[in-house]
Amino acid sequence: MLALQGIPKNINEPLLGKISFFSTEKDNRSETIIVDPKLSKRKLKSYVASIFSCIDIDDQLKTSGIPIVYNVNNIHLLSEGDVVEILPNGLINVFYQINSKHNLIFVTSRCNSNCIMCPQLIDNNEGNLLDLNLKLISLIDKSTEELALTGGEPTVIGHDLFHLILACKHYLPNTSLLLLTNARKFSDLKYTHLFSSLGHPNITIAITLYGDNNIEHDFIAGSKDAFNEMVRGILNLATFGNSIEIRIVIHKYTYKGLLRISEYIYRNMVFVKHIAFMGLETTWRAKANLELLWVEPKEIINSLEESIRYLAQRGMNLSIYNIPLCLLPKNLWKFARQSISGWKNSFDSKCLTCSVKNQCSGMFESGVPVYSQYLQPI
Ligand code: SF4
Repeated sequence: MLALQGIPKNINEPLLGKISFFSTEKDNRSETIIVDPKLSKRKLKSYVASIFSCIDIDDQLKTSGIPIVYNVNNIHLLSEGDVVEILPNGLINVFYQINSKHNLIFVTSRCNSNCIMCPQLIDNNEGNLLDLNLKLISLIDKSTEELALTGGEPTVIGHDLFHLILACKHYLPNTSLLLLTNARKFSDLKYTHLFSSLGHPNITIAITLYGDNNIEHDFIAGSKDAFNEMVRGILNLATFGNSIEIRIVIHKYTYKGLLRISEYIYRNMVFVKHIAFMGLETTWRAKANLELLWVEPKEIINSLEESIRYLAQRGMNLSIYNIPLCLLPKNLWKFARQSISGWKNSFDSKCLTCSVKNQCSGMFESGVPVYSQYLQPI
């Protein structure tokens, strides 16, 4: 997540608001964080907070009791309509970027699995983020095309997840949702029935699958019964007509079995709407386990090509995420997508001379040092 830092004054609790560079109507001020305002103290009092790029501000403003952050670095990275959280220590977390196509609701840091390549810091003691996320959803711009619900594992918050989906349906009726999940909770038929009854008009459930059998999948998921629960979950979701995407993360424990996994999906889950083969995001546990997980990019190509050919010949809808074009043979380029969220997306200095940079996914920022040696500008 993009984050800025400044010097806080009069902020005793986290504040959430929508960024505006202009003074707003009175009714909207209680949800607006105004940037570099030139307003009287009386008017500033009606805003959630004010943030300033200047290195210092008037002493009277500092002692006014008005929530303020000044000396904010990189304030130019904010846009009108972004939604940010300001913490008492002056950290400004940008939860929503109006100009990004990759926005998300971070549902929870908790998880019921323990995947060896998890790129997320898992905190099973985390408090409830429901109220924060409901407020965030109410502030997101209505023209947003897509929003991901992610974690951790979003379903561990149980029925609270339904409140989030209903809030999206209410405040963002034209926004498609992508729920990233291990699908284990959907093995509970009653839960899946209730989930499916929410009637969201455009939600896809994106499920990570690591093998065509319980031994391989459970090993990678770090959790017994993960495979069987996931399969039951997928079948339950399909029974109620949900739109399902399967995601396969490629690393040392999966790359040799990609064709087997593809055959398994085609034979047992031909109803899925989309299948994505994904490169590793090398943060947190994936970074800690990188020696175990890493496989030379050229080693995966045969297996990936075979799998894509097998599924494409059978009319399945396919994508490749998070793998730079120069590491793929040209016949796979049509499947490669620019899939990495803007704030994590990066390119190596070598890419400056590359003729296909504008079409390339580039890399996760964390992956640049890992991939750099393999890149070959085109
Ligand atoms: S050199 Fe850089 S921009 Fe070009 S294909 Fe490779 S990763 Fe993409």
